[in-house]
Amino acid sequence: MTNNIIIFDTTLRDGEQSPGASLDINEKVQIARQLALLNVDVIEAGFPVSSPGDFESVSRIAQEIRGVSVSGLARAVEKDIDSAAKALEKAEKPRIHVFLATSEIHRKYKLLKAKEEIIHLAVKGVRHARKYVDDVEFSPEDASRTELDFLIQVVEAVIGAGARTVNIPDTVGYAVPDHYAAIIRGLKEHVKNIGKAIISVHCHNDLGLAVANSLAAIKAGAQQVECTINGIGERAGNAALEEIVMAMKTRHDFYQRSTRIVTRELIATSRLVSTLTGLRVQRNKAIVGENAFAHQSGVHQDGVIKERTTYEIMKPEDVGYLKTRLVLGKLSGRNALKTRIKELGYELSDSEFERAFEEFKHIADKKKEIFDEDIEAIIGIEKMEVPHIFQLESLSISYGPNTVPTAGVRLKLQDGRLVDNATIGDGPIDALFKAIDLSTGIPGKLQDYNIRAVTSGKDAMGEVFVNIEVDGKTIGGRAVSTDIIEASAKAYLNAVNKVAAMKVK
Ligand SMILES: [Zn+2]
Repeated sequence: MTNNIIIFDTTLRDGEQSPGASLDINEKVQIARQLALLNVDVIEAGFPVSSPGDFESVSRIAQEIRGVSVSGLARAVEKDIDSAAKALEKAEKPRIHVFLATSEIHRKYKLLKAKEEIIHLAVKGVRHARKYVDDVEFSPEDASRTELDFLIQVVEAVIGAGARTVNIPDTVGYAVPDHYAAIIRGLKEHVKNIGKAIISVHCHNDLGLAVANSLAAIKAGAQQVECTINGIGERAGNAALEEIVMAMKTRHDFYQRSTRIVTRELIATSRLVSTLTGLRVQRNKAIVGENAFAHQSGVHQDGVIKERTTYEIMKPEDVGYLKTRLVLGKLSGRNALKTRIKELGYELSDSEFERAFEEFKHIADKKKEIFDEDIEAIIGIEKMEVPHIFQLESLSISYGPNTVPTAGVRLKLQDGRLVDNATIGDGPIDALFKAIDLSTGIPGKLQDYNIRAVTSGKDAMGEVFVNIEVDGKTIGGRAVSTDIIEASAKAYLNAVNKVAAMKVK
């Protein structure tokens, strides 16, 4: 057994199930590329049978990503497993992840099946998956609420059927560290063939214990951890990858376990996931929050200046914070921007770079100092690969006390035609979006509208994130500008352009 803990990232599967997160295929591929740079061991790319979009993104990731295992989720039924196998056909290292609930509550109310039948179905599912791939993982869903003696039987049976990894999910976030560690020890002690499989853990954060439970399980002998970037996931989320990795690294003296993660990529990965999902990271979030390394108190500042380790247990550079934040301005040229983008760890194609440079110049006209965060926001927008079917030419807004908010927009179509429309609304943004609807003929229902300052200062760029509903589907859009009204219009158009592109297909 090696000392390495296998990092199984499920940002694209469990993380994407976060309420409010919606990723399209291009965005999922972007995240997968970054996860490969971060050097995770396994990427769970999706649940292929659940929708054609999920199937396509799993197969695109499987086709493109090399050096990392790519996993597809499947219930223990043939149809799901066949679909996962097909989506993973081109993967270098495919893994099929089969799951079936085992707890009494799920057996009784969800599945209406007896224990023997559960074991039979689990074994059948694993055997079927093994016909396609060697690397099969099995998860007894709601394992932490399953009777331990029955869990032991299930685990022994699926290992016998060929599962190489057995995952013990705390599906509902019910476990506490001592209890969860005892389950892992119980399995190690009583499952006769446990040596033939890797024990994995998968924790949810309903009680704020996902990371603590995962670490307790590692101490008890688990060898794989399932986690997500920024801890995103259903309800209160999953265990945060960055916290688990940095806990093991910082307290290697205690855990004596390592990972293959390139920790300097943590911040870039966190920002990419936050930008693309629209799920903001709280300022005081461990490791990747804005304040994680900020010392406010005078005593602390003084200590850190004299000797860093007085108040810092980790080096900011180790997780990817760059020391210099102030970088570029109006007079910076192509080369300066190119160099800085490289230093930040991004790779742009020539056309992406040209668009980014144009946007950079546009912003530098209005904003004196351009920070790394500004550059990252620009790159995030340029890398979206959304066709510019409708482009904003100009807009005008009038509103104020005792007036009816009015907006006028001029859009440019792909063939160069211009469309003008003006209308009133309940507020300036409402009027603006209605005028855009009139011009595009694609009425979107606004579900979510978020605005954030990319950096501090009065001239900070605003990043706007919208979710709109069109024909029952939720589509996300985002944009940045020093003018928040313009950013709002562009974010809305970004979402509408995604819809328009799908309609053209
Ligand atoms: Zn989960």
